[in-house]
Amino acid sequence: MADLIPQTLTIAQLGNPVLRQIAQPIDNVHDPSVQALIDNLMATLLSSNGVGIAAPQVAAPDQLLIVASRPNPRYPHAPEMEPTVMVNPRLLSHSPEKVKDWEGCLSVPGIRGLVPRYRAIEIEYTRADGTSQHQTLTDFVARIFQHEFDHLNGQVFLDRVESVQDLITDQEYLTRVLPAALGQQS
Ligand SMILES: [Zn+2]
Repeated sequence: MADLIPQTLTIAQLGNPVLRQIAQPIDNVHDPSVQALIDNLMATLLSSNGVGIAAPQVAAPDQLLIVASRPNPRYPHAPEMEPTVMVNPRLLSHSPEKVKDWEGCLSVPGIRGLVPRYRAIEIEYTRADGTSQHQTLTDFVARIFQHEFDHLNGQVFLDRVESVQDLITDQEYLTRVLPAALGQQS
């Protein structure tokens, strides 16, 4: 019998080969093992200060990710949204322009990188209940999706920075870069 209580799973850290594997499509979202993985991935994300997570980060080679933007100590100004489970996601189209902003990753602790991403994207995915969903995402939420989608293809944000000089520590980000960026906005 499957565990009814979601478990928090260990998050693979940079250097673990599972982060470089290509995730495979999920055939049957209703399979109890898939539903358990979804529940455990959600529990793992909610117990961390992440805004998204992908199955390869917990060593599951499946096309499954969760986008869950919310303010937390690692992303104090993230917009609040309902956590969204995306099975077999596809990127259908994107805006011509990319924007650069800072990203971190639960698999790359202590480091932030300035990463170019499409500002707006059109995506399609299967929800946890098996229905399909077509959606347009913009700005920070679009950024989270592109970050997690990369994990399904064995990529991490470090692969996307244009220069090693675009890498900084969490501490620099939270104490210097973020306050300066917020100062510019107001
Ligand atoms: Zn990540």
